[in-house]
Amino acid sequence: MRAPILPGRFAEAAELDALPRIAPEEEFPAVCAGCGECCRARRDILLSGLDLYRLARRLRLPPRTVAEAFCRETPGTLPGLLLTPSRRSGNCPFLDGGACAVHEARPLACALYPLGQAIDLETFRTEYYIQPPLCGVQVPGRTLQDYLEDSGVLERAGIDAFWARSCAALQQRLEAAQHYPKTAVRGCLLRALYYDYDFRDDFQPQFTANLARLEPLLARLLGETAQP
Ligand code: SF4
Ligand code: SF4
Repeated sequence: MRAPILPGRFAEAAELDALPRIAPEEEFPAVCAGCGECCRARRDILLSGLDLYRLARRLRLPPRTVAEAFCRETPGTLPGLLLTPSRRSGNCPFLDGGACAVHEARPLACALYPLGQAIDLETFRTEYYIQPPLCGVQVPGRTLQDYLEDSGVLERAGIDAFWARSCAALQQRLEAAQHYPKTAVRGCLLRALYYDYDFRDDFQPQFTANLARLEPLLARLLGETAQP
């Protein structure tokens, strides 16, 4: 089972399989030219908990405040957050005069672009995909490894894999439960996955603690615990 993400959105497995894959040691000459094209007319930039936490830390605001100002919820079974385009321009709300105002805290989908990735949920192995044509300037001799290091994708890969596996497990439990108080469950999930984080502390320990705290409550709400 794989958790696939294309630039800005989750993708169907068939969509990914149609794209060329690339290994870290292979040549990948694209270097971002900062044109801002991947930030315009976008309605599909999906955030992980780490993405929202990094934005919150950059803006020095609580994650929930950032979400209320810049995001909207996805309608699916497992709640997610999408960046809301600016009403005035229709572009990403962080696009400022052609440049990203939160560049060092940009979401994974933006750091990956024009790549996509899929994480194998059993092995945690990550595959990378190219969406041609490549943007930016072409610098011969560079590899995918260079690109991933420069864009900060590698340093967060472990947390992204753990996030993908945790979300897939939650999704499976929600689909199996069918009848449960949807609003209450959605609220608990949004807090554990996105909101209950202090940007002054590291993300991963807080994520682990949030999942542990969520567990008994979720089990009860989903009717997984045996009734006395
Ligand atoms: S967060 Fe930054 S890089 Fe990502 S779409 Fe918005 S402006 Fe572009
Ligand atoms: S990733 Fe590509 S489209 Fe986006 S700003 Fe860089 S060069 Fe432009």
